[in-house]
Amino acid sequence: MKTKHWYDFLWLWSILFFGLGFFNILFAWLGMIDFFLPLVFALVGGNKFFCNNLCGRGQLFSLLGGRLKCSRGKSAPRWLVSRWFRYGFLVFFLAMFANMLFQTWLVAAGAASLREAIKLFWTFRVPWGWTYTAGTVPDWVAQFSFGFYSLMLTSLLIGLIVMLLYRPRTWCAFCPMGTMTQGICRLRRRGGKEAWPGQTPWVPFAFVEKKFPARAIIPTYRAY
Ligand code: SF4
Repeated sequence: MKTKHWYDFLWLWSILFFGLGFFNILFAWLGMIDFFLPLVFALVGGNKFFCNNLCGRGQLFSLLGGRLKCSRGKSAPRWLVSRWFRYGFLVFFLAMFANMLFQTWLVAAGAASLREAIKLFWTFRVPWGWTYTAGTVPDWVAQFSFGFYSLMLTSLLIGLIVMLLYRPRTWCAFCPMGTMTQGICRLRRRGGKEAWPGQTPWVPFAFVEKKFPARAIIPTYRAY
């Protein structure tokens, strides 16, 4: 039987993160951990250790769709896992992220007022004012929280929908973070070699590479 590690339970973190957003929207800032950590592992370590071991969202899909059988388990249509869709979705997602930062900047500059609402699927505005008391923090800090939580919740809902329709971790096939880290790892290991030969990985990452040599560079969407 496979030994359990503390990081096998990070799906709890995912539930906690989205749960906290129903009580205080400022907790949305914690989501930045999930945003930066995969990039740090890919950039510094050249691997997908985050996707393979630390992603609470991926674990949640595995748990719901796998063990709890909330997935039809069907193969996703080819277009959904195609390179064009993956990169297209990444560009779209980054554009939406940039727009969210722009809205935050408008509020910071006094050109727009704080909107205590979240936007689902980049379209449907849902009042979310009960999670924030005006004046607690500068308006732009709160605006970022509403915007970032909207992105996180929307991507979770998309992930849940494709989990129900197809395989548990179908979201990983076109997850923007997965696509970005995959691209970075490819660059780092072009042709199966280090892109920068002779570079000594930072010690914790050297340990990770030794411990997870094969899966570290397997694209997440093929690994599950
Ligand atoms: S592809 Fe995205 S959702 Fe899947 S494990 Fe990686 S970061 Fe998590």
